[in-house]
Formats: sequence, structure tokens, C-alpha cells
Amino acid sequence: MLPFYIGLLIILAGFGTIAWILWDEKQKEIRRLKAAALESGEGVTAHEVLERIGISKKTSDTASPKSGPGPSPAQLRPADIARQTKILLYNDELKENLRDLHAKADRLNRLIQEHEQEIEKARKVLHAHQRDRNEYDRITQECKDEIEHQREKVRHIKVQVASTETDAQSHQKRINSLEEQIKKIDTVSREQEGETKEINARIIQYKKQHKTLTEQLEKEIELLRQKIEKIATLTGSHDPIPDFIVQGRPTAAAPTQEPPAPAQTPSEPAQTETPATGEKAEPEKKDEVSTVPAQDLADLRNIGIIAHIDAGKTTTTERILYYTGVIHRMGTVDEGNATMDWMAQEQERGITITSANTTCFWKKKKINIIDTPGHVDFTVEVERSLKVLDGAVVVLCATSGVQSQTETVWRQANRYGVPRIFFINKIDRMGADYEAVIQAIRERLEANAAAIYYPDGCEDHFNGIIDLIEEQYIIYNDEAGVQLERQDIPDHLKEKTGQMRHTLMERLSMVDETLTEKILKGETLTGEQIRAAIRRGVLEGTFFPVLVGTALRNRGVQLVLDAITDYLPSPLDVPAIKGIHPKTEEPCERQSAFDAPLCGLVFKIASDPYVGKLYYTRFYSGHLNSGETIYNSSIGKKERISKIVMMHANKQEIVSRIGAGEIVALVGLKQTKSGNTICDQEHPIVLESMTVPEPVVSMAIEPKSKADQDKMGLILNKFLDEDPSLRVNYDSETGQTILSGMGELHLEIIIDRMKREHNLQTDIGQPQVAYQETITDRVAKIEGKFISQTGGRGQYGHCIIDLSPAEKPGQGIVFINKIKQGHIPQEYIPSVEKGIRAGAQQGVLAKYPVTDLTVTLTDGSFHEVDSSDIAFQLAAKAALKDGLQRGKPVFLEPIMSLECVVPEEFMGSVIGDLNTRRAKIVSMGMQGKLKTTRCEVPLAEMFNYANALRSLTQGRASFSMEPAFYAEVPRHIAEKIKAQREEYLKNKK
Ligand code: GDP
Repeated sequence: MLPFYIGLLIILAGFGTIAWILWDEKQKEIRRLKAAALESGEGVTAHEVLERIGISKKTSDTASPKSGPGPSPAQLRPADIARQTKILLYNDELKENLRDLHAKADRLNRLIQEHEQEIEKARKVLHAHQRDRNEYDRITQECKDEIEHQREKVRHIKVQVASTETDAQSHQKRINSLEEQIKKIDTVSREQEGETKEINARIIQYKKQHKTLTEQLEKEIELLRQKIEKIATLTGSHDPIPDFIVQGRPTAAAPTQEPPAPAQTPSEPAQTETPATGEKAEPEKKDEVSTVPAQDLADLRNIGIIAHIDAGKTTTTERILYYTGVIHRMGTVDEGNATMDWMAQEQERGITITSANTTCFWKKKKINIIDTPGHVDFTVEVERSLKVLDGAVVVLCATSGVQSQTETVWRQANRYGVPRIFFINKIDRMGADYEAVIQAIRERLEANAAAIYYPDGCEDHFNGIIDLIEEQYIIYNDEAGVQLERQDIPDHLKEKTGQMRHTLMERLSMVDETLTEKILKGETLTGEQIRAAIRRGVLEGTFFPVLVGTALRNRGVQLVLDAITDYLPSPLDVPAIKGIHPKTEEPCERQSAFDAPLCGLVFKIASDPYVGKLYYTRFYSGHLNSGETIYNSSIGKKERISKIVMMHANKQEIVSRIGAGEIVALVGLKQTKSGNTICDQEHPIVLESMTVPEPVVSMAIEPKSKADQDKMGLILNKFLDEDPSLRVNYDSETGQTILSGMGELHLEIIIDRMKREHNLQTDIGQPQVAYQETITDRVAKIEGKFISQTGGRGQYGHCIIDLSPAEKPGQGIVFINKIKQGHIPQEYIPSVEKGIRAGAQQGVLAKYPVTDLTVTLTDGSFHEVDSSDIAFQLAAKAALKDGLQRGKPVFLEPIMSLECVVPEEFMGSVIGDLNTRRAKIVSMGMQGKLKTTRCEVPLAEMFNYANALRSLTQGRASFSMEPAFYAEVPRHIAEKIKAQREEYLKNKK
């Protein structure tokens, strides 16, 4: 606009200058004429003057006397005329000039008007331009903001890409190292196969030698016997022939705790016939390879022994094995030689860690027993045993009664609907109180329980057992508890027997109409009828018979065996196992039958140094021969069974065929995992898998040497296969391997086993609380992309997900696919899920695993050529990370359920201490003379609690603790956790 104005001004100035020059010329002319007139004076007439100045006569005439009152020219003097003329001339001139000027002024006005119009127009244009300018400035600013925003995004994406690339590289490294390990395993396993063959050949050779030697020995013995007889005939002496000669050959191991006088061969069980136990146990003869007969399923019992730690499960199982003839000497937990606790760690610590299986026979019934661990750290062992058992014996301590772990296993058994009987053990122990324990069963476990046996005395005065059904008095005539005798009830116990029998009938009739009717009719009930009613109640889960004894002192265990065979179910008594068809997802079931299609559940995997991996399997239907191929319906793969093994604790008996109802170990499977279903491919079924609890304690673990690095990966994989409650994570920030489990003891045992079984030396960190992360807010439409075009084939993965907090705590990560119209091809949906699950291994707050999250895949897109599994995984991972950041993430911490049993005088200080540990008291009660308190307390506050409690109570209190649930960490603690993590990372760097 400026140039326009300058131009305009120049034009105006030009016009002005021309007008001024013209006007000035005229003025000069006038002045010149005036000067000439004045100089000539009188000689010039007025007309001359007028003519000279070019004014017409007419004009001068007009200026004649008519125009004014002045004198006429004829009357005027020449000077006046000259003056007049001058004036007139001047006047005319002025008028003329004025006219000119008016005309010029008009022209200039017009010009100015025109210019003003121009200026007005220009101003409008200028205004419009100003408006545009503002708009452009605004748009420019917006663009700049957007550019900044986009730059920020690009920076962010670059960081993400860099981290993803780092992740991808570390995953690739891990893949490479795993592949390397697989190669090594293959080499080792090939070597081992060769060794195994050699060993087998040697075993066969030894057996042949052994057979030959035995035959020779027997021949020699026979010769010796003949010689002795000859000598006797010759000398007339009748000395008895030594026992070992009569029996064939001397026994290898002398029993340490022999029954006093069991007149039986060592291969027979130490069992005396009594009216109650009836018949002798008839153990199967064990061949090297035997065929398990198509056993009458009604005569089979699959049972577990479950209880709180130290209640006496292992001791009871040990006695069961002794009385059924499986073992010929009683091992004890305290001496570390119990048969079922075969692991070195179990024997050293006197605890059960793995659930051991064994088989025995009682009253022509075959009993498969699983002795399960009681320590909370190994609760998954109990869980998987209960999943496959048909019945259970709940062992309680007569002094401690119902303890916290009893409640846990009780709830687990309820979940699987397992029929149960109670054995109240340790009646010989100080403070034993049978009736108080039964009361606790009714109150704390809400079980309709009643005694079927009653102890005559307790502690040191435990004399015998009253059979309330048969109304008989049972006494033991020997230390080993083999010879039991039934007598009439002594008079002084008759009243008590009546009372207890009355309670039994009352409790039974509450759930059994048949029995009630008979009682109402006044009929006398036979033992058979009562036992039948008890059996019905046990199978329905409405009645729980209670037995009594002391396993350590060898009293009452045969009665438990009787109760197992009388009341606990055979595979035929339990409902058909339910599952779904793997393709149609239709519900289906399998009845327990030998000729039905094969169906079994692999519930545990253990490693055996000689045989390799043992896949413990419960068969529900059908049968299987060794060497056959089975179908693993959980993973859709076929696998060959090379061996079928019946387990006797850690000893094995190879069998060629197995059928419905049995629990055995399979050898030869490769890809099968714990919880998988194996079946007939023609009739596929997938059974429900087991619930695995979340780990609560973690520990960083590092191999001591570089050489141990690969070895550690291999060994950890082996442990992971065996133990579903163990987790192994790799912390990409610290480069550490993190081991997580159910407690300090759990991890300690794993590390100890690494050292002993695999000679692997490791450095371990302090046990830490296994925190988790979750979100508290719903986030919708989170977009995740992984698009890369770096020469060659590109990568394209794109997904849109919604995240929402779990509906119920403990659900873990739930993935829902809601993709419609094939926006993401079906083949990439598992990739998205895989990416989500991998991403959830490390949260956004402090890299703890993420849980309790529902991820819904709603949309996405794909590229015909560039889309790949890994691209979708990375896209999903990016989306999850973004969503977690926006979903108001929080920490979750494990909350423990704690029970303290404390003498009254220390209760105040124990409660005070618990309050400082963020504990919430749930209930208080009494256990004998001791006070009990139950509370919920964060695990983070409970490390080293054993020492604290010991010093608070002079070592007179005890406690048990088990994981209960996960809860949100209070804000101030969350800040601390974050700060600790940052500090840790700083130190690590
Ligand atoms: P588990 O942890 O349930 O398997 O229990 P154990 O069988 O290992 O026994 C724990 C402790 O209790 C051991 O020291 C046993 O010797 C002891 N024990 C087992 N049964 C009895 C019993 O009937 N009476 C007494 N007094 N002690 C027992």
C-alpha cells in the first residue's frame, strides 16, 4: 500500500507544481504590464492599457459608468484613469485568476475526490488484506503448533522405536541363546540316549547274572539242606534248620523297626487279621514290565492326604505303606528316611515339597495315594493333586486342630468337589483335645462332621479306640500296631459311647432320609446300614466321618485304610469328567470306562535323572498301551508314549498298559505341558485346566560365571515345566533374570536344587515383594502401529484396543477379540494377543508385571505384503504401553492371611506390632489356652517376622501365613516403591 500512497502524492505534487508555474507566469506578466503602464504614465490611454493587457473594449465598456457611480473616463484625469484602469485591470485579472483558480480548484477537487475514492477503495482492500493477514498469522501459528506437536510425536515414536528395537534385539538374543540351548540339549540328549541304551543293556546283563547267581545259590542251599538232613539222619540230631535255608535265601536289609513277632515272610505285608480289617492286603507282584489288569474300577481308590504343615501327613502315609506291605520298615520324618519324602531337601528339612505318588492294596482294593505338601509355598502341588483325586483324607493335629492351611486345602477341595474323611492325628500329644477339634471342624470348616471312632484317653493315657459303629473297643497288642484286637466296650466307657453314637446318628440323619426313616421306625441299625449311610453322605459331600489315632505311635492307621475303602469313592462313584470339544467348544463329558475313548489330564511334570521327564497323568476313560500315539487336544499335537510307569514315591514300575481311573507317569512326551489334555484324536475333548496362584516373592538371580549363563536358562526351563507357580522374567533395564514364586522357601528350594542337581552356582538378590501393576481407568481406542519401510520387505501392524480394569480381582489378563469384517486377518489375532501378553510382562510404573486387565481388540488394519506376526505383536505392545500410561496405573501388592497363636500375656504386644505393619485384624479366638488372632497384612511388612515374633514372645508364639489376595498399594508407599526402583537402576548402572 505504501508505494501506492507515495505515487499518489507524487502525482498530486506534480499537478500542484504545474498549476503554480502557470499562475506564477501570469502574475509575472501582469506585474510586467503594470510596471510598463506606470513607467509610461500619462502617454497611455485607458483603452491602450486595456488593449495592451488584452482586455476587450467590450470588457472595458462593461466597466463603464454603468458599472459604478465613479466618474466617466472622459471626465477622469489620466492618472486617475491609469489608476482606475490599473484597479480595473487588477480586478479583472484577479477575477480571471479567481475563475481559473476556481476551475483548477474544481478540477483538483474532482481529482482529490477521485483520489479519495481511490484511497477509500484502497483502504477497503487494505482492510481486507489486514483481515487476511490476521487469518494467515493465525493459520501460520496453528501450523507451527501442529508442526511442534508432530515433531514431539516423531521424537516420542523415535524413542519408542528405539526401545522396541532394543526389546526386539534382546528378544532376538534370547531366541538365539534358546536355540543354541536346544541344540545343546539335542546333543546331550542324543548322548544320553546312547548312555541309557548302554545302561539298559548293562542292567539286563546284571539281571541275567543275578538270576544265574540266585539259581546257583538256591542249588547250593538245596545241597546244603540235603547235607544237613543227611548229617541229622546219620547223627540222629534234630537241630532246627536255619530260617534262611528253609525260606530259600537270606533277606538283604534287616528292618530297623520290626514288628515284634509277625510270623510272615518279608514279602508279605505286616498285617494281622482282625474282625474289622478282615482280610490281608494283597500287594501285586512287581515284574519288570507288567500289564495292569483291567481292574474293576469299583475296587480302585485315588486319594490324597491333605493337611496343614506338620499335622502328620507324611508319617500317616508312611504307616499306610507299612501296613499294606509296600515297605517293610517304617521310615520317620524326623530321621529323614520317610519313603514319600525322597528329595534331599525334603529329608533335610523334614517337609514334603513335591507330591509323591504311590500305590498299595488293602482289602483287595487298589489305592493310589498322593501325599501332598502342607507348606503354603507349595500350594500348587496340592491344587494339582486335588484336581485329579477322587477322595481325600484330611489329617489334623489333635492339639492344633483346624489351622490356616487346613482351611486353604479345605476350600481347594470344595472347589473340586472332593469327598473327604478326617483323621485326627497326634492324640498322644500334650494338649490333645478330640472333641474340641471336631467342634472346630464344624465351626471353621462348616462341615457336618461326627466321630465314628472315639479315643479312650489322650496324651500319655491314650489306651484304645472305641468303634462307635460296631460298638467295640479296639486295643493294640504290639508296639508296631500290627496286632489289633476287638473287645467289648468296658463299662466305664459305655455312657460316653452312647452319647457319641447318638451324635453320629443325629448328624447322619440330618442328611440321610433312609436312615432317619429307620430310626423313626425304631429299627436297630446294623453296622452295614450305618456304613452305607456314611458312604452316601461322604460321596454327596454332606457328611464327614472323623477318625482318631497317632501315626507316630502306630495307632489307628489301619482304621483309616478301612475308611478309605469303605467311604471314599471309586472312579465309578464320581461324576463323569466334563470338558469341551476343542473345535466346536460344545460341552462334552467322559464316563469312567475302560472301553470308552481315551481321555486323561497331565497334571504334573517332573524330571527323573534316569528316565527323563515324567508326565503324571490321570486317566478318566479308555486305555493306553505303551508305544502308542496320543493326541494332545490342548495344543493340537500328536505325541508318542514310549513308556508307562507306575510310581512308588521315586521308584518306578514299568507297565505295558493302563486304563481309566488310573494315575501313572508317562515317558516320551515332548511338547505336552502341565494341565494339558491327552485323548483319542477321533474323539477329542479338552478338560478344564488347573488354577495357578500368582507368585508373591521375587529374587534376582545371576549365574556366577559366563559358562553358567546358558546352563541356567536350560535348568530354569526345566523347573518351569515342573512347577507352574514358578515364574521367570527378564528385566531388560537391569539385564537380570527375576525368579518369582510362592514364598522365600519356594525360591530357596529351587536355588538349592539348581546347585545340587545341576551343579549351577548363582548369586541371588534379596527376596523382594512381587509387586504387580494394573490400571484404574478405562481407556478406549488406543492405537498401536508398527510400520517400517527400510528397504526390502516392510513391516506393517496396526491395531486399536480398549483397556479396562478387571471386573474381579485375580482374573489376570483377559483378551477379547471383537474384530469384525476381517480388518485384521484371523491369523494375526493370536499375534496381537501374544504382543499384549508379552507387553504385560513389564508395566509402565516400575516394570512390574501387569495384571487384572481386560484388553479388547476392536479394530486395526493390515497390509497384503508387509503384515507379519512380529509387526502385529509390536503394534499391540505399543498400544498396550500407551494405554497403560493413560489408564492411571497403580501398584498391587500381595496381602497375606496371617494366623498367630500366642500366650495371652504377649497378645497386647503382638497386636501392637501387627498394627505397625499395616495389618487388618479379622478375628480373635482361643485355641486351648492360647489366644489366636487372624489378620490380613501386606507381605512387604512381613519379611523376618519369625524373628520379630520370637523376640516379642520369648519364642512362645507361632504363626502361619499364606497369600490371600492382591490389593492396591497406598499412594505414599507407591512413591517409595518407584523411588527404590529408580535408585536400584541407578546403582545398577
Ligand atoms: P507333615 O508335614 O504333615 O507331612 O507332617 P510329618 O509327618 O512330617 O510330621 C510332622 C512332625 O510331627 C514330625 O516330627 C513327626 O514325627 C510328628 N508326628 C507325626 N505324627 C505324630 C503323632 O501321631 N504324634 C506325635 N506326637 N507326633 C507326630
